[in-house]
Amino acid sequence: MGSLIRAKEEILSPKAVIDTAPMMNALKISEEHRKDEQQSVHNAPIVSSYNDKIRPLLDTVDRLRHLKIMQEGIQLPTIVVVGDQSSGKSSVLESLAGISLPRGQGICTRVPLIMRLQNNPNPDPELFLEFNEKIIPTDEEKIADDISIATEEIAGKGKAISGNPLTLIVKKKGVPDLTMVDLPGITRVPVHGQPEDIYEQISKIIMEFITPEESIILNVLSASVDFSTCESIRMSQRVDKTGQRTLAVVTKSDKSPEGLLEKVTADDVNIGLGYVCVRNRIGDESYEEARAEEANLFDNHPLLSKINKSMVGIPVLAEKLVRIQATIIQRCLPEIVRKINDKLSANVQELNKLPKHLNSVAEAMTTFLQILGSVKETLRKILIQGEFDEYPEAPKMHCTARLWEMFNKYSDELQSENDVDDDSNKNFLLDEIKVLEETKSIGLPNFLPKAIFLTLLQGKVKGISAIPLDFVEKTWSYIETILVSVLERHCENYPQLISSARRAAKNLTAKKKQQSIDWVHDIVEMENLSDYTCHPEYSATWNKLMAYQATLMENVNNPYSHDVVSLERFGSINIAHLRGFKGLVKEAYDVKMRITAYWDIVMRRMVDNMALHLLFSIKNLVNKEMQADIIEELVGPQGTGLGRMLEESPSVAEKRIKLKKSIKLLKESKDIVANIMDVTFED
Ligand code: GDP
Ligand code: MG
Repeated sequence: MGSLIRAKEEILSPKAVIDTAPMMNALKISEEHRKDEQQSVHNAPIVSSYNDKIRPLLDTVDRLRHLKIMQEGIQLPTIVVVGDQSSGKSSVLESLAGISLPRGQGICTRVPLIMRLQNNPNPDPELFLEFNEKIIPTDEEKIADDISIATEEIAGKGKAISGNPLTLIVKKKGVPDLTMVDLPGITRVPVHGQPEDIYEQISKIIMEFITPEESIILNVLSASVDFSTCESIRMSQRVDKTGQRTLAVVTKSDKSPEGLLEKVTADDVNIGLGYVCVRNRIGDESYEEARAEEANLFDNHPLLSKINKSMVGIPVLAEKLVRIQATIIQRCLPEIVRKINDKLSANVQELNKLPKHLNSVAEAMTTFLQILGSVKETLRKILIQGEFDEYPEAPKMHCTARLWEMFNKYSDELQSENDVDDDSNKNFLLDEIKVLEETKSIGLPNFLPKAIFLTLLQGKVKGISAIPLDFVEKTWSYIETILVSVLERHCENYPQLISSARRAAKNLTAKKKQQSIDWVHDIVEMENLSDYTCHPEYSATWNKLMAYQATLMENVNNPYSHDVVSLERFGSINIAHLRGFKGLVKEAYDVKMRITAYWDIVMRRMVDNMALHLLFSIKNLVNKEMQADIIEELVGPQGTGLGRMLEESPSVAEKRIKLKKSIKLLKESKDIVANIMDVTFED
């Protein structure tokens, strides 16, 4: 803890080298400092007390990386080493770590190699390889071979490559505290044994690592090539146009010293973080020999000695990388912490929303009853009470309003059927006269047989009987879709129930529809067979209409009067055609007025009864029948259906496993950052 607190004070104090200003500023090291640095780099090992300050932060990031938090889409600040094949990437890492890595022609680096360098007071270096959940101790002699073996285990023998990383931990006295990722080199042309699409495979891996804004791109360029033709430069320029997070290392300075100074000063390829020219280990040189040769080269070579000392040598590169790393970690950590927290709470919420895993029939029963209860409640709201809070945006589910519309349409249709009948102005009273003629019998004059009335009534009833049938069909079809949709919504967490829920809804509404059809047949039949009403309106209407009988008769009987008569209800009627039936017109008018007055009553009964019938049926459905029918369909007579609820659907099970895993990872990550946040970012 003590060192953490110190770290915090020194990093955040105004005097600290690192502040939260943009990286470029942070990386401008004062000239004074620069001089000290140059003095020290030549004789002292690559170590800075500065490393100790950033170490806890770097440890945190490394632990997060180890947890594979990147899988959760949370990017970590990373120094990514890219370069064309044989540009010297591995050699640079080797120089920084002071160890030997597999080097040579062709692709040696076939998997991302995460290299964690840790300065360690112990003079004996400790090396570990971590891959496939294994930690394998190794040493400086064996490391190159062990990396090759591990690579074969990850990517297979041969030349294939893989995106699965291998981690190398180097704890050694004098190394800079740095974590870097070495990536396979970019090659355009597959060499013998390499897959055809090697370029695509490698670029995909490289892009994955360099695209996040949190990545620093360490672009390794060979002094012998034209930088602008390097594939690695093209790639890094794609994700970092201004070069603000790209640093160039120029290798093989010893081989191509000509024009190097000009190349790095001209900066044709936009390297925002600057260039460092180096000379790596050659052949069997020891690490110390290599550093001495490098220092000698840049001090004494006629061309290379002209390059500013702040741009040459592995020690300068190490210092620079340590600073850059400190800056990005410092800048990214608060954001990482926020992301971890956000992701964690989002995932926890999602997990809670997943249906509970049911372990016993009793639990299944409880859940089933809950579902049933909420189905009932929803239906009561939307079908009976007209409350739509559960479906504010779905007009289809605003059932009382929709039913009301359908019902109005029904009522209008009945009415208009009636109007069509009376529309035939030219045939006024002809139907009635025809029936009168046909029912003539020997009897008292002025005595209307009941059969006349019934015959006419039946004709009218027949004319409208399809309308109520059609209406109940439509209404129940609509209610079926509502029922299915409500059931599906409430069973959504138990997909195994949905098909039987749908079946239950269909059966139930089919049954209700049949009941309604039977009922419609009955009421139509009742209207057909008898004529009765106690409603005083019948007589009142009839009397009112009969008041026009005398006028009509006058006009019919008087051939010189007008052909057009205005009658209550019927408007202007042409009566010329009636003059031939003088004897029957009076009676026919009487019959028609009775039918007209009575039909008003019939219509009202058809509309009112239908309304009552529907309200009654829907209430019964929701309050009584639905429950029993659904239980029977979903649970079955033996109750075995509940067993199905115990089997979790594979998709839900998988989602649960994934969320739990992710939550575990995020919680661990949160614990890791919590330690550091307490001391580093609190205030
Ligand atoms: P990688 O494919 O980018 O990892 O490149 P390597 O690190 O394997 O290097 C490719 C070859 O270049 C090796 O034979 C190295 O010895 C050689 N090499 C790397 N850096 C230098 C250097 O600074 N000077 C010289 N002379 N050779 C170097
Ligand atoms: Mg390599």
